[in-house]
Amino acid sequence: MNPLVEKLIDPDIRALKAYHVADASGMIKLDAMENPYLWPQRMVDDWLAQLRHCEVNRYPDPSARALSARLRDYMQVPSDAEVMLGNGSDELIQIVAMAVAGSADAQPRVLMAPEPGFVMYQMIAKFVGMRFHGVALSNDDFSLDLDAMLSAIAQTRPALIFLAYPNNPTGNLFDRDAIEAILAAAPGLVVIDEAYHAFAEASFMDQVGRHPNLLVMRTVSKLGLAGLRLGLLAGPRDWIDEFDKLRLPYNINVLTQATASFALERAALLDQQSAQIRADRSELISALADRDGLQVFPSAANFVLFRTPPGRATAIFDALKQGGVLIKNLSPTGGMLADCLRVTVGTPEENHAFLAALDAALKP
Ligand SMILES: *Cc1c(COP(=O)(O)O)cnc(C)c1O
Repeated sequence: MNPLVEKLIDPDIRALKAYHVADASGMIKLDAMENPYLWPQRMVDDWLAQLRHCEVNRYPDPSARALSARLRDYMQVPSDAEVMLGNGSDELIQIVAMAVAGSADAQPRVLMAPEPGFVMYQMIAKFVGMRFHGVALSNDDFSLDLDAMLSAIAQTRPALIFLAYPNNPTGNLFDRDAIEAILAAAPGLVVIDEAYHAFAEASFMDQVGRHPNLLVMRTVSKLGLAGLRLGLLAGPRDWIDEFDKLRLPYNINVLTQATASFALERAALLDQQSAQIRADRSELISALADRDGLQVFPSAANFVLFRTPPGRATAIFDALKQGGVLIKNLSPTGGMLADCLRVTVGTPEENHAFLAALDAALKP
């Protein structure tokens, strides 16, 4: 290795692996929790007509006021809460972590999240020099182990806790009372990550402002707009004002601002697609439960986690891929996720193709 790279880049960063995205060309893509539906042609035409008016020679509105107002309304952000938009919620996770990283402290501060959980929490902790502390979920049903969380909080005094509600990759909603107990016990910030809100119909958004340390994060990615990269963080003004200083100017580009506003004016379509996905999720869950040897976990998200017979997950994943269906193999992660695969709910046709390929793969 170039000795200067070795000298200047922290060992923690060198040890990281860049976020890997599997090549899905030509495949039925059920690996990334995307909404599978395109817009009707008329709507695409209207959208393109609006984009004609975008002045791409100008910088975007730095605080995306029009879009923020629409998002606040759509996401029912309490009127006394403040919001900040991010280039995907990934950027918001990074900004919050940067803000509380405490790089001047003698000891690295702790970023805590249940495990298994969303991988970006752990990666971003490393980016900003925080120590990641994962707390195992209950082994049987992936529920929060409240005793374990509370004692880890008492021991490590985390500056920042992330709770994905529902959780990725397990799909379940954590118990509300357990979350309330964590909010009360946490000495630092608690971010409830509601990336899958459209499929869960449960939220802490109305609690923003009632706890001085609660932030709620949303994204439009799982709602059908993953390509735009747009997330929202809601919280008390004194927190958001500080985070906003770390946000790079113009982080939400003109095309995203125009397109997201356009889509939110037609939110009924997005809501209808989410309702369809929720209905298809139920069908997919029962179809999976009907297959011999599979253990299927409940889901309040747009994906389903299931466990294959011992030692077979990777072979089944590979056979699905051979059959043109890409899902997510979580088995290599090990631990509680050994033998587990995760499939995104697609269109009914995609789900049937997945089930057919799965039946072929399950044959002994
Ligand atoms: C997908 C996902 C996100 C990422 O959202 P972006 O807005 O696309 O960056 C955040 N949190 C969780 C738990 C997710 O699964």
